[in-house]
Amino acid sequence: MVLAQLDGSISRAIQQMSNATIIDDNVLNECLNEITRALLQSDVQLKLVSDMQTNIKRIVSLHDLTGGHNKRRIIQQAIFTELCQILDPRKSSFTPKKGKASVIMFVGLQGSGKTTACTKYAYYHLKKGWKPALVSSRAGAFDQLKQNDATRVKIPFYGRIAVEGVKRFKKENYDLIIVDTGGHHKQEASLFEEMHQVAEATRPDLVIFVMDSSIGQAAFDQAQAFKQSVSVGAVIITKMDGHAKGVGALSAVAATKSPVIFIGTGEHIDEFEVFDVKPFVSRLLD
Ligand code: GDP
Repeated sequence: MVLAQLDGSISRAIQQMSNATIIDDNVLNECLNEITRALLQSDVQLKLVSDMQTNIKRIVSLHDLTGGHNKRRIIQQAIFTELCQILDPRKSSFTPKKGKASVIMFVGLQGSGKTTACTKYAYYHLKKGWKPALVSSRAGAFDQLKQNDATRVKIPFYGRIAVEGVKRFKKENYDLIIVDTGGHHKQEASLFEEMHQVAEATRPDLVIFVMDSSIGQAAFDQAQAFKQSVSVGAVIITKMDGHAKGVGALSAVAATKSPVIFIGTGEHIDEFEVFDVKPFVSRLLD
């Protein structure tokens, strides 16, 4: 199923429920089943989805739902709350401290927007008074454009052997050393192997998994595969300026047990926002 359909089917289910003249158990079940189908099709774990169903039914049955309007609102609110819950892994990610060197490693599939996210993350912190530096493990293949971007905003860059770059920037008192990983690998196995080696060598304080918002069904497996080879501690969802609503974020959080911390909202270095769960879920339901 195409993701646009999938993203849309949650909101369609709610819309249908809202349009029904009388909201009885049948209408509610129909709505919840539709949402369940959409979430399962995007590989959100069965347990999360069935817990969500149970919780919504419990909330709804706690209210005396005679007034139709009230009932619609309560159901919508319950769905909203439950989706927010799925996006909350109930633990925060490692938070770097200004003035103390932290190594942050970025992982993700080629084309996910990883290199862009590295420069955005660096720039976001630079504006807040940090001293960020970029290191690429791509042996000189750091995207030329992004390298130019980094140079333009005066973020130093090291494009040779990652571990040397990290060592150098630590010595030079940089407090946010951002390591970009993954080159052009034909084999997925060699991408994971490289990532694993870079993590072993650079000992990151935080590994951030970068995921394209348009990845729906593949999200869980992809996030899990990364989590299995390096200890992912946070997620960034990119390309939120596109059509996709980012339903894959639910799976990424579930697979990595890590919070989403930022979203990418464009190609430019400043199109980057701190993740805020409520507007994200509102958009999912829109
Ligand atoms: P990488 O291979 O994962 O390092 O991906 P890149 O950072 O090179 O990005 C791949 C493409 O996606 C580039 O054309 C980027 O400009 C684009 N891109 C990255 N993030 C965003 C975003 O948030 N919005 C949009 N519209 N494009 C993005």
